[in-house]
Amino acid sequence: MILLQFCAVRLGILSYCGLKPSSASKRAVSLAMARPSSSLSDFREVFAKAKHIAIVTGAGVSAESGVPTFQGADGYWRKWQAQRLATPEAFARNPSRVWEFYHYRREVMLTKSPNPAHIAIAECEARLSKQGRHVVVITQNIDELHKRAGSRNLLEIHGSLFKTRCTNCGSVVENYDSPICPALAGKGAPDVDVEDAGIPVEQLPRCHQKNCTGLLRPHVVWFGETLDSNILTEVEKELDLCDLCLVVGTSSVVYPAAMFAPQVAARGVPVAEFNMETTPATTSFSFHFQGPCGSTLPPALARHKTEIIS
Ligand SMILES: [Zn+2]
Repeated sequence: MILLQFCAVRLGILSYCGLKPSSASKRAVSLAMARPSSSLSDFREVFAKAKHIAIVTGAGVSAESGVPTFQGADGYWRKWQAQRLATPEAFARNPSRVWEFYHYRREVMLTKSPNPAHIAIAECEARLSKQGRHVVVITQNIDELHKRAGSRNLLEIHGSLFKTRCTNCGSVVENYDSPICPALAGKGAPDVDVEDAGIPVEQLPRCHQKNCTGLLRPHVVWFGETLDSNILTEVEKELDLCDLCLVVGTSSVVYPAAMFAPQVAARGVPVAEFNMETTPATTSFSFHFQGPCGSTLPPALARHKTEIIS
Protein backbone atom coordinates (compact mmCIF):
# COMPACT_ATOMS: atom_id res chain seq x y z
CA MET A 1 0.00 0.00 0.00
CA ILE A 2 2.76 2.36 0.96
CA LEU A 3 4.64 1.41 -2.17
CA LEU A 4 1.60 2.17 -4.27
CA GLN A 5 1.20 5.52 -2.59
CA PHE A 6 4.86 6.21 -3.19
CA CYS A 7 4.53 5.36 -6.87
CA ALA A 8 1.44 7.50 -7.17
CA VAL A 9 3.28 10.45 -5.69
CA ARG A 10 6.23 9.93 -7.99
CA LEU A 11 4.01 9.49 -11.03
CA GLY A 12 2.26 12.73 -10.23
CA ILE A 13 5.51 14.55 -9.86
CA LEU A 14 6.88 13.22 -13.11
CA SER A 15 3.72 14.02 -15.00
CA TYR A 16 3.97 17.52 -13.67
CA CYS A 17 7.57 17.72 -14.81
CA GLY A 18 6.65 16.94 -18.38
CA LEU A 19 7.29 13.22 -18.66
CA LYS A 20 4.36 11.26 -20.01
CA PRO A 21 4.48 7.96 -18.20
CA SER A 22 0.94 6.75 -18.49
CA SER A 23 0.52 7.09 -22.25
CA ALA A 24 4.01 5.74 -22.88
CA SER A 25 3.32 2.78 -20.63
CA LYS A 26 0.09 2.04 -22.42
CA ARG A 27 1.80 2.18 -25.82
CA ALA A 28 4.55 -0.07 -24.51
CA VAL A 29 2.00 -2.61 -23.34
CA SER A 30 0.19 -2.52 -26.67
CA LEU A 31 3.46 -3.11 -28.51
CA ALA A 32 4.46 -5.83 -26.10
CA MET A 33 6.10 -8.89 -27.44
CA ALA A 34 4.97 -12.22 -26.14
CA ARG A 35 8.21 -12.89 -24.36
CA PRO A 36 11.56 -11.12 -24.05
CA SER A 37 14.68 -12.91 -25.20
CA SER A 38 17.28 -14.08 -22.74
CA SER A 39 19.82 -14.82 -25.45
CA LEU A 40 23.10 -13.22 -24.50
CA SER A 41 24.48 -13.53 -28.04
CA ASP A 42 21.42 -11.71 -29.45
CA PHE A 43 21.83 -8.96 -26.86
CA ARG A 44 25.51 -8.70 -27.73
CA GLU A 45 24.67 -8.06 -31.37
CA VAL A 46 22.41 -5.16 -30.38
CA PHE A 47 24.95 -3.89 -27.85
CA ALA A 48 27.73 -3.93 -30.48
CA LYS A 49 25.76 -1.55 -32.69
CA ALA A 50 24.49 0.82 -29.98
CA LYS A 51 25.93 4.34 -30.05
CA HIS A 52 24.05 5.82 -27.11
CA ILE A 53 23.27 3.57 -24.16
CA ALA A 54 21.13 4.64 -21.18
CA ILE A 55 21.48 2.47 -18.08
CA VAL A 56 18.77 2.87 -15.44
CA THR A 57 19.82 1.43 -12.08
CA GLY A 58 18.07 0.84 -8.80
CA ALA A 59 18.37 -0.62 -5.33
CA GLY A 60 19.22 -4.13 -6.50
CA VAL A 61 22.65 -2.97 -7.68
CA SER A 62 23.41 -1.50 -4.25
CA ALA A 63 22.00 -4.51 -2.41
CA GLU A 64 24.62 -6.71 -4.06
CA SER A 65 27.27 -4.56 -2.37
CA GLY A 66 25.58 -5.22 0.99
CA VAL A 67 24.09 -1.74 1.20
CA PRO A 68 20.86 -1.69 3.23
CA THR A 69 18.15 -0.59 0.83
CA PHE A 70 15.46 0.10 3.46
CA GLN A 71 12.85 -1.46 1.21
CA GLY A 72 10.56 -4.41 1.79
CA ALA A 73 11.54 -6.59 4.75
CA ASP A 74 14.65 -4.44 5.14
CA GLY A 75 12.53 -1.32 5.54
CA TYR A 76 13.10 -0.44 9.17
CA TRP A 77 15.69 1.60 11.05
CA ARG A 78 15.26 1.14 14.79
CA LYS A 79 11.51 0.90 15.30
CA TRP A 80 10.60 3.24 12.47
CA GLN A 81 9.73 2.46 8.91
CA ALA A 82 12.51 4.13 6.92
CA GLN A 83 10.05 5.71 4.52
CA ARG A 84 8.51 7.61 7.41
CA LEU A 85 11.88 9.13 8.29
CA ALA A 86 12.61 10.18 4.71
CA THR A 87 10.14 13.05 4.67
CA PRO A 88 10.42 16.80 5.19
CA GLU A 89 7.83 16.50 7.97
CA ALA A 90 9.94 13.97 9.89
CA PHE A 91 12.97 16.27 9.58
CA ALA A 92 11.00 19.29 10.78
CA ARG A 93 9.66 17.31 13.74
CA ASN A 94 12.88 15.65 14.82
CA PRO A 95 15.99 16.70 12.88
CA SER A 96 18.26 14.84 15.30
CA ARG A 97 16.52 11.52 14.60
CA VAL A 98 16.61 12.00 10.83
CA TRP A 99 20.27 13.04 10.90
CA GLU A 100 21.11 9.98 13.04
CA PHE A 101 19.47 7.82 10.38
CA TYR A 102 21.42 9.45 7.53
CA HIS A 103 24.64 9.55 9.53
CA TYR A 104 24.27 5.79 10.01
CA ARG A 105 23.78 5.32 6.26
CA ARG A 106 26.83 7.46 5.43
CA GLU A 107 29.02 5.58 7.90
CA VAL A 108 27.83 2.20 6.56
CA MET A 109 28.99 3.26 3.11
CA LEU A 110 32.57 3.55 4.38
CA THR A 111 32.55 -0.24 4.71
CA LYS A 112 31.03 -0.98 1.27
CA SER A 113 32.53 -1.15 -2.20
CA PRO A 114 31.29 -1.17 -5.79
CA ASN A 115 30.46 -4.67 -7.00
CA PRO A 116 31.05 -6.26 -10.43
CA ALA A 117 27.87 -4.66 -11.83
CA HIS A 118 29.03 -1.12 -10.93
CA ILE A 119 32.48 -1.89 -12.30
CA ALA A 120 31.18 -3.39 -15.56
CA ILE A 121 29.07 -0.26 -16.17
CA ALA A 122 31.96 2.10 -15.47
CA GLU A 123 34.40 0.12 -17.62
CA CYS A 124 31.88 0.03 -20.45
CA GLU A 125 31.49 3.81 -20.33
CA ALA A 126 35.25 4.39 -20.39
CA ARG A 127 35.82 1.91 -23.21
CA LEU A 128 32.96 3.05 -25.42
CA SER A 129 33.83 6.72 -25.00
CA LYS A 130 37.12 5.97 -26.80
CA GLN A 131 35.03 4.72 -29.72
CA GLY A 132 32.90 7.87 -29.81
CA ARG A 133 30.01 6.05 -28.16
CA HIS A 134 28.04 7.34 -25.21
CA VAL A 135 26.95 5.66 -21.96
CA VAL A 136 24.88 7.41 -19.29
CA VAL A 137 23.82 6.02 -15.91
CA ILE A 138 20.49 7.17 -14.54
CA THR A 139 20.31 6.00 -10.93
CA GLN A 140 17.92 6.23 -8.04
CA ASN A 141 20.68 5.10 -5.68
CA ILE A 142 22.12 7.69 -3.31
CA ASP A 143 25.22 5.80 -2.20
CA GLU A 144 27.63 7.04 -4.91
CA LEU A 145 28.86 3.51 -5.68
CA HIS A 146 28.60 4.21 -9.42
CA LYS A 147 30.82 7.25 -8.97
CA ARG A 148 33.31 5.28 -6.89
CA ALA A 149 33.39 2.58 -9.59
CA GLY A 150 34.40 5.27 -12.11
CA SER A 151 31.13 6.20 -13.85
CA ARG A 152 31.40 9.82 -15.01
CA ASN A 153 28.22 10.36 -16.99
CA LEU A 154 25.87 10.00 -14.07
CA LEU A 155 22.43 11.37 -13.26
CA GLU A 156 21.61 10.81 -9.58
CA ILE A 157 17.90 11.50 -9.65
CA HIS A 158 17.44 11.04 -5.89
CA GLY A 159 20.52 13.01 -4.84
CA SER A 160 23.38 11.73 -2.72
CA LEU A 161 24.12 10.72 0.86
CA PHE A 162 27.34 12.68 0.45
CA LYS A 163 25.84 16.04 -0.39
CA THR A 164 24.18 18.47 1.99
CA ARG A 165 21.74 21.27 1.29
CA CYS A 166 21.33 24.31 3.50
CA THR A 167 17.77 24.82 4.70
CA ASN A 168 18.50 28.55 4.85
CA CYS A 169 20.55 29.56 1.79
CA GLY A 170 19.94 26.45 -0.32
CA SER A 171 23.58 25.82 -1.18
CA VAL A 172 24.42 22.23 -2.09
CA VAL A 173 27.86 21.02 -1.01
CA GLU A 174 29.72 17.71 -1.25
CA ASN A 175 30.53 16.36 2.19
CA TYR A 176 32.50 13.19 2.96
CA ASP A 177 33.31 14.01 6.60
CA SER A 178 33.15 11.13 9.07
CA PRO A 179 31.46 11.92 11.35
CA ILE A 180 29.67 14.73 9.59
CA CYS A 181 29.73 16.72 12.86
CA PRO A 182 31.13 16.00 16.34
CA ALA A 183 27.72 15.55 17.96
CA LEU A 184 26.85 12.68 15.61
CA ALA A 185 30.05 10.73 16.36
CA GLY A 186 29.09 7.22 17.45
CA LYS A 187 25.39 7.91 16.94
CA GLY A 188 22.91 6.26 14.58
CA ALA A 189 23.08 2.65 15.75
CA PRO A 190 20.16 0.84 14.13
CA ASP A 191 19.21 -1.27 17.21
CA VAL A 192 15.55 -1.00 18.14
CA ASP A 193 16.43 -0.36 21.78
CA VAL A 194 18.61 2.69 21.08
CA GLU A 195 16.96 5.97 22.01
CA ASP A 196 17.20 9.14 19.95
CA ALA A 197 20.31 11.11 20.80
CA GLY A 198 18.22 14.26 21.05
CA ILE A 199 21.05 16.37 19.66
CA PRO A 200 20.26 20.09 19.94
CA VAL A 201 19.61 21.56 16.52
CA GLU A 202 22.55 23.98 16.78
CA GLN A 203 24.92 20.98 17.14
CA LEU A 204 23.63 19.24 14.01
CA PRO A 205 25.42 19.87 10.68
CA ARG A 206 25.42 23.60 9.91
CA CYS A 207 26.14 25.63 6.80
CA HIS A 208 29.64 27.05 6.29
CA GLN A 209 28.73 29.54 3.57
CA LYS A 210 29.62 33.15 4.31
CA ASN A 211 27.13 34.80 6.68
CA CYS A 212 25.06 31.64 6.94
CA THR A 213 24.91 29.08 9.73
CA GLY A 214 21.68 27.45 8.56
CA LEU A 215 20.76 23.88 9.41
CA LEU A 216 21.93 21.42 6.75
CA ARG A 217 19.87 18.49 5.52
CA PRO A 218 20.83 15.53 3.37
CA HIS A 219 20.62 16.46 -0.34
CA VAL A 220 18.33 13.56 -1.13
CA VAL A 221 14.82 13.54 -2.52
CA TRP A 222 12.38 12.69 0.25
CA PHE A 223 8.89 11.28 -0.10
CA GLY A 224 6.49 13.98 -1.20
CA GLU A 225 9.25 16.13 -2.69
CA THR A 226 9.73 16.99 -6.34
CA LEU A 227 12.71 15.80 -8.29
CA ASP A 228 15.24 18.30 -9.57
CA SER A 229 13.77 19.60 -12.82
CA ASN A 230 17.21 20.17 -14.37
CA ILE A 231 18.12 16.54 -13.81
CA LEU A 232 14.77 15.38 -15.18
CA THR A 233 15.35 17.46 -18.31
CA GLU A 234 18.70 15.71 -18.74
CA VAL A 235 17.06 12.32 -18.19
CA GLU A 236 14.43 13.10 -20.81
CA LYS A 237 17.12 14.13 -23.28
CA GLU A 238 19.09 10.93 -22.74
CA LEU A 239 16.00 8.75 -23.08
CA ASP A 240 15.10 10.48 -26.35
CA LEU A 241 18.61 9.96 -27.74
CA CYS A 242 19.39 6.43 -26.58
CA ASP A 243 19.38 3.54 -29.01
CA LEU A 244 19.68 0.92 -26.25
CA CYS A 245 18.37 1.04 -22.68
CA LEU A 246 19.35 -1.23 -19.80
CA VAL A 247 17.28 -1.54 -16.65
CA VAL A 248 19.43 -2.94 -13.87
CA GLY A 249 18.49 -4.03 -10.37
CA THR A 250 15.10 -2.43 -10.26
CA SER A 251 11.65 -3.76 -10.94
CA SER A 252 10.15 -2.37 -14.12
CA VAL A 253 6.83 -1.78 -12.44
CA VAL A 254 8.37 0.38 -9.73
CA TYR A 255 9.63 3.89 -10.19
CA PRO A 256 11.89 4.99 -11.83
CA ALA A 257 12.15 2.21 -14.40
CA ALA A 258 8.37 2.18 -14.59
CA MET A 259 8.63 5.64 -16.10
CA PHE A 260 11.75 5.56 -18.11
CA ALA A 261 12.10 2.15 -19.71
CA PRO A 262 8.56 1.81 -21.12
CA GLN A 263 8.96 5.28 -22.62
CA VAL A 264 12.03 4.06 -24.48
CA ALA A 265 10.46 0.73 -25.46
CA ALA A 266 7.43 2.56 -26.84
CA ARG A 267 9.53 4.19 -29.57
CA GLY A 268 10.87 0.84 -30.65
CA VAL A 269 14.25 1.03 -28.94
CA PRO A 270 15.51 -2.22 -27.40
CA VAL A 271 15.31 -2.39 -23.61
CA ALA A 272 17.21 -5.07 -21.68
CA GLU A 273 16.26 -5.85 -18.13
CA PHE A 274 18.75 -7.32 -15.64
CA ASN A 275 16.88 -8.22 -12.51
CA MET A 276 16.22 -10.91 -9.94
CA GLU A 277 12.67 -11.46 -11.08
CA THR A 278 10.27 -10.83 -13.93
CA THR A 279 7.42 -8.35 -13.64
CA PRO A 280 4.35 -7.59 -15.74
CA ALA A 281 6.39 -4.89 -17.56
CA THR A 282 9.06 -7.39 -18.55
CA THR A 283 7.03 -8.45 -21.58
CA SER A 284 7.35 -4.90 -22.97
CA PHE A 285 11.08 -5.33 -23.29
CA SER A 286 13.36 -6.99 -25.81
CA PHE A 287 15.60 -8.80 -23.33
CA HIS A 288 15.40 -10.09 -19.80
CA PHE A 289 18.33 -11.56 -17.89
CA GLN A 290 17.33 -13.03 -14.58
CA GLY A 291 19.70 -13.29 -11.64
CA PRO A 292 22.10 -11.11 -9.64
CA CYS A 293 23.25 -8.29 -11.91
CA GLY A 294 26.80 -8.66 -10.59
CA SER A 295 26.80 -11.96 -12.49
CA THR A 296 24.63 -11.18 -15.50
CA LEU A 297 25.92 -7.73 -16.41
CA PRO A 298 29.72 -8.16 -16.78
CA PRO A 299 29.50 -10.68 -19.67
CA ALA A 300 26.78 -8.58 -21.32
CA LEU A 301 28.89 -5.40 -21.30
CA ALA A 302 32.30 -6.91 -21.92
CA ARG A 303 34.21 -5.90 -25.01
CA HIS A 304 32.56 -7.15 -28.18
CA LYS A 305 34.74 -8.76 -30.83
CA THR A 306 33.78 -6.03 -33.30
CA GLU A 307 34.97 -3.21 -31.04
CA ILE A 308 38.10 -1.47 -32.25
CA ILE A 309 40.10 0.21 -29.54
CA SER A 310 42.95 2.44 -30.59
ZN1 LIG B 1 23.49 28.29 4.16
